[in-house]
Amino acid sequence: MAEESARIRPVVIARVHEVALKGRNRRRFMRQLTGNIMTALHDLPYHSIKIRTGRILIVLVDAADWPDVRVRIARVFGIQNFSLTLESDTRMSSILRATEQLLDAEEPPEGTFCVRVKRPDKSYPLTSPEIEREIGAFIHERTGAPVRLRKPDTTYQIEILHDGAYVTSRVHAGPGGLPVGSSGEIVSLMSGGYDSPVATYRMLKRGCSVTLVHFHAYPYVRATSIEKVIELAQALGRDQPAIRLITIPIGEIQRRMAISCDPEMLVVLYRRLMLRVAEALATEYGAGALVTGESLGQVASQTLENIRAIEAAVRLPILRPLIGMDKIEILEEADRIGTSEISRTPDDDCCTVFVPRHPATHATIEEAERAEAPLDVDDLVRQALSGRTMFEGDPATWNAMRAIQPSAESLTLPAAADLLRPEPSKSV
Ligand code: ATP
Ligand code: MG
Repeated sequence: MAEESARIRPVVIARVHEVALKGRNRRRFMRQLTGNIMTALHDLPYHSIKIRTGRILIVLVDAADWPDVRVRIARVFGIQNFSLTLESDTRMSSILRATEQLLDAEEPPEGTFCVRVKRPDKSYPLTSPEIEREIGAFIHERTGAPVRLRKPDTTYQIEILHDGAYVTSRVHAGPGGLPVGSSGEIVSLMSGGYDSPVATYRMLKRGCSVTLVHFHAYPYVRATSIEKVIELAQALGRDQPAIRLITIPIGEIQRRMAISCDPEMLVVLYRRLMLRVAEALATEYGAGALVTGESLGQVASQTLENIRAIEAAVRLPILRPLIGMDKIEILEEADRIGTSEISRTPDDDCCTVFVPRHPATHATIEEAERAEAPLDVDDLVRQALSGRTMFEGDPATWNAMRAIQPSAESLTLPAAADLLRPEPSKSV
């Protein structure tokens, strides 16, 4: 029994933002967050995860696992901050051992430090200042860091309750936001550019589960954008395990549109088609909204008029988390979340295929509908969906070759291959 009580338990305490914890949502939120933490730690050792008084406690096997655990926890949306606590019995010798383990597990204090003791159990044989002095001397001896009682760089907190003592130092910032999965499903239109990964990241941070959809014009252009989007899915997959990517070849459809529609309207029409296809996928997957990386006025297709003419093609809400951001702000965020390196690689966006030098910048809904009149839009959506390639499971194993196989086959279909040829003469 004495052996057992002398044990020191490393416990991670993760705190959440109270604002997110209103009413009935609270339980759902905490359950989702606990599940997401389990997923983030799936290949690391830990004893248990439990919810206790509005916090999540993760009991580790060994304090030496803390550096690995810390990196993972720091990415779980919904966590406001977290710290490592070493729990021991209340004997002074045990508290010193717990402090020693904490010093081994975390970096020593940078600059000055102090020790603060809370001791609600007044029957404890030592007073708070006595404990503070003893533990302070111990930390100073071990690390050489100077003590400073006013505004120290690091504070060691020691709480002594009647059945246990708890030693904690640094509080680490979590990423904030809401647990992925707590706000429902959305479909994200992902190009290989800088904007859409940042927009997607922002929605993940607001608790959405995301299905990525990427449209490409291979084999009319290179397949680079597909490779980039797979890499982007790998990066974003760190925040949403079990992320899913759907790639859709639309080069052939774009070519048909280029033949039958007003060239100036093509960019608007491509976008309307993409949204329709994304909406059909959203219906399939039970998603309640679409998200794009649009930012007002950034490019010709993103004027107020064009945004209106484009979004009129669908009924689902379109979320545009970057609408009021400058490119510089977006690039800074892409740097921060680790997607800018991937987006930087040049690629061939499908929206630039078959379009004139000066596309319409102020299209109206009526103009878009008129330009689309020669097309059987529903049929084009069906065709686009039938060419899809689905990537699921671990994004590290995804191979872009799978996405381009079906479109290579569809090229051999006579309907596609003959499109640009002159009509055969009727008199033959
Ligand atoms: P991004 O940097 O995200 O490519 P952008 O500044 O290049 O954006 P546009 O090319 O006008 O702007 O695209 C606006 C939005 O339309 C993109 O953020 C993305 O959500 C969607 N989009 C554009 N091209 C594609 C594509 N090939 N596949 C899927 N979605 C796309
Ligand atoms: Mg783009």
